[in-house]
Amino acid sequence: MSRVYNFSAGPSMLPEPVLQKAAAEMLDYQGSGQSVMEMSHRSKVYDGIIKGAEAALRQVMNIPDNYKVLFLQGGASSQFAAVPMNLMTKSHKADYVLSGQFSTKAFQEGSRYGDCKAVASSKEDNFSHIPAIDPAECRPDADYFHICLNNTIYGTTWHTLPDTGDVPLVADISSCILSRPIDVTKFGLLYAGAQKNVAPAGLTIVIVREDLTGEPQEGTPTMFNYGVMAKNESMYNTPPCWPIYICKLVLEWIRDEIGGLEAMEERNVKKAQELYDFLDGSKLFKPCAQKDSRSIMNVTFVTGDPDLDAKFVKESTEAGFVNLKGHRSVGGMRASIYNAMPPEGVHKLVEFMKEFEKNNG
Ligand SMILES: *Cc1c(COP(=O)(O)O)cnc(C)c1O
Repeated sequence: MSRVYNFSAGPSMLPEPVLQKAAAEMLDYQGSGQSVMEMSHRSKVYDGIIKGAEAALRQVMNIPDNYKVLFLQGGASSQFAAVPMNLMTKSHKADYVLSGQFSTKAFQEGSRYGDCKAVASSKEDNFSHIPAIDPAECRPDADYFHICLNNTIYGTTWHTLPDTGDVPLVADISSCILSRPIDVTKFGLLYAGAQKNVAPAGLTIVIVREDLTGEPQEGTPTMFNYGVMAKNESMYNTPPCWPIYICKLVLEWIRDEIGGLEAMEERNVKKAQELYDFLDGSKLFKPCAQKDSRSIMNVTFVTGDPDLDAKFVKESTEAGFVNLKGHRSVGGMRASIYNAMPPEGVHKLVEFMKEFEKNNG
């Protein structure tokens, strides 16, 4: 069997030990005589899985008791609507920072439910950095302040969180969840689609401070109502059973094999550093994200020549480094090096890039 190094932005690689465990348990989950895919979500055995996943997430992310963990469906994109429906209930105002395509979509969707204001944007620089925030633009009576913590398409990340005072900070953490420790207490709400760093597509995780799960806007669908979902422990209807099971295995891998999020961060920083160090010294490849905003999860780069970019993508694919083509809005290349990308995958990619530079420089 030969597995490729998959640099896809999502869905993306899963840790090999997790895939092996899932394979071993596929036909008969722990003596139940059935696959996790087949069992009732109301069964005792599945209850152990979903409770175990939540407990592991709370432990690994150090989530305080006054936060609810919700296992939902609909992707991060559904949260672009669910967040305003549930949180925009007092002043009906919310402030957004536009740092890329997903935060812009969140802003546009939020604007359908109330008075959303874009308080800062780096659009004029093609989102190559996190914009500076002028506090005078921010509204102290906003119901929340929204950021996208890691900008998957552009390869940028917030290295310092904005100070929003009493306004709850809400963050889309789809492409950086579990990549490093996060101080959950600094946020009112965190949300993430699971398919980048946690599980297969189909699971969406919401971590929300209890006091923000009150009465939502009128007309909010029951399935979007955080209070209802929290009260029913994510079991108002059938949850995404299989992705929740894989999520549990991934968390156990981070906790027991990697050694927790500090160790995960150290591993991720080293991986990213090797790639950025090469890019900084290269005469052929140029990194796209500005230095002070660089992401350790998504690394964007170009040669400056679209034909040469295409040649690189073609040849790297043939060599077993797949999905390196950049998003169309940036062009060039993007290496998504999430938790499950082993360090030797990045190392071998850098070796391949050196060789390509020698032959094409
Ligand atoms: C992938 C991604 C999304 C979209 O997620 P879906 O689960 O496909 O809706 C939103 N935000 C960020 C930061 C992402 O990386």
